[in-house]
Amino acid sequence: MAVLNEKPLLILGGGLMGLAIAHELAQRGKRVEVLSRSRLEAAGFVAAGMLAPHAEGLEGDLLNLGQISLQRHSAWIKNIESNSNMSCGLKTSGIVVPFDSQTDCESYPTYKYGEKLNTNELRKEVPGLSLKWKLGLLFKQDGQIDNRRLLMRALEKACVELGVHFQEGVEVVEIIQDLNKFTGVKIKDINGNITHLESKEAVLCCGAWSKQIFKELPIFPVKGQMLSIQGPKQILKRIVFGPGIYLVPREDGLIIVGATSEIEAGFQGGLTPKGQSELQKGIESLIPELNQLPHMERWWGFRPCTPDEGPLLGMSSINGLWLATGHYRNGVLLAAITAELIGKSICSIPITNEESSLLFKFRWNRF
Ligand SMILES: Cc1cc2nc3c(=O)[nH]c(=O)nc-3n(C[C@H](O)[C@H](O)[C@H](O)COP(=O)(O)OP(=O)(O)OC[C@H]3O[C@@H](n4cnc5c(N)ncnc54)[C@H](O)[C@@H]3O)c2cc1C
Repeated sequence: MAVLNEKPLLILGGGLMGLAIAHELAQRGKRVEVLSRSRLEAAGFVAAGMLAPHAEGLEGDLLNLGQISLQRHSAWIKNIESNSNMSCGLKTSGIVVPFDSQTDCESYPTYKYGEKLNTNELRKEVPGLSLKWKLGLLFKQDGQIDNRRLLMRALEKACVELGVHFQEGVEVVEIIQDLNKFTGVKIKDINGNITHLESKEAVLCCGAWSKQIFKELPIFPVKGQMLSIQGPKQILKRIVFGPGIYLVPREDGLIIVGATSEIEAGFQGGLTPKGQSELQKGIESLIPELNQLPHMERWWGFRPCTPDEGPLLGMSSINGLWLATGHYRNGVLLAAITAELIGKSICSIPITNEESSLLFKFRWNRF
């Protein structure tokens, strides 16, 4: 049970990780306060929502972390759905990765986890696929979640139901420490007023912006532009994951098309003709007839990237300041395991050897 006169644990950043961890901690009886500069700039509201450790061709420890998180997704989502009384749109739709040569297919990092598709089978799984693709891998275990329209909102509602307190529109401008112990933050409200908020513990979840308030973190933004097109229901059964382009069909026929990868853009927001035409060409290279469908929306966001593309998890160099950031292009996939690892660590719940080894592998100072 929460101790009432104790200062709440602070969650710095109310994007996907911030909400996932706030939810986890509130369920475990912690008093939690989320400090969020802008919910709408969160990559959690931008992502395509693929749960794709295999289709993304992840390798090594990151593949292992992704596979463990994927296994936990269904229980994690059920919990959020039950606390929010909302659906999150989780679907094990399977993902098809097409190839134009046997060599490319066999050298794909996750080749052994996929079902091989010959030309006929490939066309049956993905009707209308361009003839340039000769064979494919079907990863039936991969799936998707409707993060933009459902998951983020369900998480917010579940947090509120569990008593999480939110401050929206405030920016954390400084982390305060005393003899290497976290003691609080300075925050700036929309009127520019700066106040000091005391606390013994916080989790830094500022995504791509994490380095701005904690300089030693090796995190940088990788911008991604997206668009969506509206098809009839069931126009596409599987997600199609091509080189530099993917198509994610939602239940109602909406198809999310992603995404550019623009490291040189830094934090420069906005749509660009180059980025949008890249997406258009990408659709053409996969299923040309989809370019006839009406466009619905276009948007962009920033992935939080690290030098090895893996997240930073666990205690930082400041005692009491936890890290859950740097999830790059797999944050939706990794949210389930991140919330569990950080939640258990903060609440001193015994963890398995496997969990402890994951925390070690993804420690912030591994580089
Ligand atoms: C185009 C694109 C496509 C993607 N597709 C997928 C996908 O298909 N599958 C997948 O698994 N992942 C995908 N991702 C990755 C995923 O979205 C991210 O890894 C994940 O959202 C990161 O979560 P986060 O909470 O760390 O950051 P965010 O969700 O970005 O949240 C960070 C929050 O911190 C706040 N903040 C920042 N600085 C401060 C401050 N100083 N004070 C207060 N608040 C602050 C911001 O306002 C923001 O709300 C995609 C990302 C992008 C951009």
